[in-house]
Amino acid sequence: LVKARNVHKSFGHVEVLRGIDLDVHAGQVVCLLGPSGSGKTTFLRCINSLERIDAGRIWVDGDLVGLAERKGRLHRLNDTEIARQRRDIGMVFQRFNLFPHLNALENVVEAPIRVRGVAKAQAHARAHELLERVGLADRAQNYPAQLSGGQQQRVAIARALAMQPKLMLFDEPTSALDPELVGEVLTVMRELAADGTTMVVVTHEVAFARDVADQVVFMDGGVVVEYGAPGDVIGNPREERTRTFLARML
Ligand code: ATP
Repeated sequence: LVKARNVHKSFGHVEVLRGIDLDVHAGQVVCLLGPSGSGKTTFLRCINSLERIDAGRIWVDGDLVGLAERKGRLHRLNDTEIARQRRDIGMVFQRFNLFPHLNALENVVEAPIRVRGVAKAQAHARAHELLERVGLADRAQNYPAQLSGGQQQRVAIARALAMQPKLMLFDEPTSALDPELVGEVLTVMRELAADGTTMVVVTHEVAFARDVADQVVFMDGGVVVEYGAPGDVIGNPREERTRTFLARML
């Protein structure tokens, strides 16, 4: 479902991604691990066109991200075309980024109604189902300020799911939470994974990656240092850099 080849990205003189390759199959959970500054977040943002890559290619479900072939040549997509591509990709951020002036239910129905043109009654029915799925059926009328960080993040997950995305991207979804609230968000993510949702997750939760990921990718310095099954990359890493990182995390 996601294929990345030789992805490069610089900010000014700093090359943050130095040739990333990645394959994510439909239904898989892929966790990106690595030290701070290794480029994980930037790479995730490139999949969703929140950053434009300098070189390389990314495909999501067979479509080139940010580019289209016309008359045998590649052209950059315009903003409308990029927005259309992004509709099919759900993203959950470190900071929950809910609309503060909308309650939980309104946060969830906003995009389906406005962007997809779903009928109001249908969008509301689906939003109630989604809030129930993330354990917040009784919080539909609450505003973000009335919810804990863990609850807000679960609303953010429901909001992303409301667009029925092909792919869900999670950017350190638990790292802004108090420790006692991390578990409730990880539980929802485990359930999504068990339901076959295709997910790419940037995380520092090594235990989550070990238990849930089909594939773990360890990045450092803008390159993929090693990747594979969690039993290998986490359980029995080949590379010294991976071992050093994991030793610090555990
Ligand atoms: P963390 O775990 O801390 O989020 P990360 O592996 O996700 O780290 P990135 O957030 O991708 O790393 O950042 C990689 C590097 O790119 C960092 O040095 C960061 O300062 C730099 N960077 C990221 N975004 C920008 C930007 N918009 N402008 C300039 N530099 C940036």
